[in-house]
Amino acid sequence: MRTAVVVGGGLGGLAVAGALARSGWQVTLLERADRIRPEPTAVVLWPNGVRALRALDLGAGLDAIATPLPDCGVRRPDGHWLVQPRQTPVERLPVVVHREDLHDALIAGLGDRVELRTGVTVRTVRAASGLRPAVGDGRHTFEADLVVAADGTDSVVRRQLAPEAGVVSSGCAAWRAVIPWYRAPSLTAGEPVGGEILGAGYRFVAASLGERGSSGASSRGGIYWMATAAGAPRPEPPETQLALLRRWYAGWPAPVDELLAATDPADLVQQEIRELRPLPRSYGFPVGPGGVVLLGDAAHAMPPHLGQGACLAFEDAATLAALLRESRLPDAVVAYDRSRRPRAAAVVRQTRRMSAVLQTRGRLALRARDAALGTITPRLLGSAAAVAAQWRPPA
Ligand SMILES: Cc1cc2nc3c(=O)[nH]c(=O)nc-3n(C[C@H](O)[C@H](O)[C@H](O)COP(=O)(O)OP(=O)(O)OC[C@H]3O[C@@H](n4cnc5c(N)ncnc54)[C@H](O)[C@@H]3O)c2cc1C
Repeated sequence: MRTAVVVGGGLGGLAVAGALARSGWQVTLLERADRIRPEPTAVVLWPNGVRALRALDLGAGLDAIATPLPDCGVRRPDGHWLVQPRQTPVERLPVVVHREDLHDALIAGLGDRVELRTGVTVRTVRAASGLRPAVGDGRHTFEADLVVAADGTDSVVRRQLAPEAGVVSSGCAAWRAVIPWYRAPSLTAGEPVGGEILGAGYRFVAASLGERGSSGASSRGGIYWMATAAGAPRPEPPETQLALLRRWYAGWPAPVDELLAATDPADLVQQEIRELRPLPRSYGFPVGPGGVVLLGDAAHAMPPHLGQGACLAFEDAATLAALLRESRLPDAVVAYDRSRRPRAAAVVRQTRRMSAVLQTRGRLALRARDAALGTITPRLLGSAAAVAAQWRPPA
């Protein structure tokens, strides 16, 4: 039986571990945390991410927990439309999913061929020719035909195999929360909860997860919001961070202030946004009779402006699983690199363009940017939607 070691139990690691196990591989999943724990936030999945999950046979689980996100357009903080809402066919709409629901669906997909080992921090990787690849935590060596590095932005495996890829700050921080359905503010009738608002260096996105149970038996429901602001994360306690957010976003269109006011500081998740620059020179490393691949944020961490990080991780998993079904190792590892690197590079390019528009600050820049936003944003978002539409799972 073919064997794989997956390093990291995030969305990418769980997705690929389950896919390999369902194809008959014996999988060991190594996670440094003492248990596999999802973030208490939500994630937007574009049609490419949804397609990838379907290709991974997780479509039914996803349908039970996903809420479609209608096109609510993009506004400026003064309420002017940058992009008007459009009637979009439902298959081109993204969905929003509570990360805890998605995590449960991915865990359910692991089956009994995945050995889950938590509290294991991988520190070394062996990629010497002639030997099977292996990783180690200083006490044990885990050897397999295939090692999948899904250990996130600070990937230890990537640092050893592709040291040229550096982790840098994207120059902004993000705050997110899910307001549970029973505490969600009752919004004015007809007021869209979803949609995006762009200001100079600031962005606010909100999406409804529906009422509990309305979109599936396990759906937790509620309202998800994400705010990004140029600059560094704040050292203050969450109560003060929320107060700051209310000051920064004062006067923005409803329901921004209602959502911030209804957020329990204990539910606030703050994060510095970081990315890989440059990207690794390869995502696949043939080693002896097997190989090592990079997947998810370990391969292509990027700012969340187009909501594509997890979608690409699922694309990676679906591509790898398909290639391993049709070719042998280490050919599949080479084919994985050929297929995934140009794709990730294209999405990262679009994301960086969006970063440049979003992070312009200052009075003059603001005026110039407001003028530019009206023309650039629809174009960028149009090409971002095309990026999402383009990908198809390998046959
Ligand atoms: C603010 C924000 C909003 C986002 N919104 C979206 C969105 O709407 N849509 C979207 O598609 N994407 C979004 N993303 C991106 C998405 O969250 C990530 O791309 C995705 O979660 C990456 O998953 P991963 O499994 O590759 O990495 P991670 O989630 O980082 O998982 C890595 C795992 O590896 C473990 N690990 C790390 N090092 C080791 C080690 N040495 N040994 C063992 N285990 C280790 C970690 O503990 C962790 O469990 C967003 C990101 C941010 C920051």
